[in-house]
Amino acid sequence: MTLVEPLYAEILRRNRGEHEFHQAVREVLETLDPVLERRPELVDARIVERLCEPERQIAFRVPWTDDSGDIHVNRGFRVEFSSVLGPYKGGLRFHPSVNLGIVKFLGFEQIFKNALTGMPIGGGKGGADFDPKGRSDAEIMRFCQSFMTELHRHIGEYTDVPAGDIGVGGREIGYLFGQYRRITNRHESGVLTGKGVTWGGSQARTEATGYGCVLFTAEMLRSRGESLDGQTLAVSGSGNVAIYAIEKAQQLGATVVTCSDSDGYVVDEKGIDLALLKEIKEVRRGRISEYAERRGARFVPGTGVWNVPCDVALPCATQNELTEEDARTLVRNGVKTVAEGANMPTTPEAVRVFQEAGVAFAPGKAANAGGVATSALEMQQNASRDSWTFAYTEERLARIMRHIHDSCYTTAERYGAPGNYVVGANIAGFELVADAMLA
Ligand code: GLU
Repeated sequence: MTLVEPLYAEILRRNRGEHEFHQAVREVLETLDPVLERRPELVDARIVERLCEPERQIAFRVPWTDDSGDIHVNRGFRVEFSSVLGPYKGGLRFHPSVNLGIVKFLGFEQIFKNALTGMPIGGGKGGADFDPKGRSDAEIMRFCQSFMTELHRHIGEYTDVPAGDIGVGGREIGYLFGQYRRITNRHESGVLTGKGVTWGGSQARTEATGYGCVLFTAEMLRSRGESLDGQTLAVSGSGNVAIYAIEKAQQLGATVVTCSDSDGYVVDEKGIDLALLKEIKEVRRGRISEYAERRGARFVPGTGVWNVPCDVALPCATQNELTEEDARTLVRNGVKTVAEGANMPTTPEAVRVFQEAGVAFAPGKAANAGGVATSALEMQQNASRDSWTFAYTEERLARIMRHIHDSCYTTAERYGAPGNYVVGANIAGFELVADAMLA
């Protein structure tokens, strides 16, 4: 990082305390020198400086009433990062850890991820520091309605199209969409994605992030003449991404031996019982410890999921969940492939451990782009007032994941870093965005 070092120093100064944002920016910037050396017009046009500053950032008050009549106040955000390739696009996260720095890291990543899909979508992200844990449906509904009461004036099918992320799934999108429709008197289906399939949602959107991550992993293996069949997988998390990563991995003949939540992880050598997992997590919104109990599998409290030996690791929980020490443990236990289902779940030190050990490592902006890509397919269906079959949508998703893999792979080769998916994803995404900005 020589050309961009002074830019990075300036970004640290202007965005004090936003550690996750610094981390996400650094990860991209430290791979860009070779492009900027070859293409001085990008330096002259100050493309990197422009890209690191969001086009617009919105912070707002979200007051709501709980079931006992007490009033709470949360903070909502929408960071509209880049609209050069299309309307701002990215999810909403409801989690107590959410702050401006986290939303900016996610929005920054989203610019390149969305570019890599090849679909016409810009980058944005939003959320609130609201904790949905233990809240009733009525409380969640009132929170979502209050959140949308402010957000509605900033979004639109040609402006900014939010979707889900951690803490925001089909239920929340329903409450949000209902409030948008009521306030604006418009059934503008393209304003949100992740909708129910009977009211404008896309088949396979629920499955898309997890499926896409495993399809990307299959492409990584294929490039080395291998397949997922017979491989042992470790997956962290047990939300939407993890569940559908497990489903697709099992369909492709792999055995998934672990998954986790914030209380701990389960070790299930026979392979995760997906029907039971879905019943506990999707229907009852329960905990992984209950899965272990009912399945007769081992539950280990705490954060040690990466101690479970595997050939392939898919971190699908949250940012910075896989540390340097975890990476060393995984390498010692023989891991060969790592693909990020979550956004930035691997710390920079852990990424270095994998790369030095020759482990194939795919960053989230490539490996988990299937979710947002299918959101773009949902927008396409909304724009044409059409709805596609599951099989057709899944085939489109598979094609997109293959395209992302191949463009990362060939870009890495073109820039002298064969097999380095971090370099490939960053440069391929950056060039698409930069060229559009220049134009
Ligand atoms: N939150 C997802 C992501 O991180 C999906 C965003 C979307 O569908 O707009 O990419």
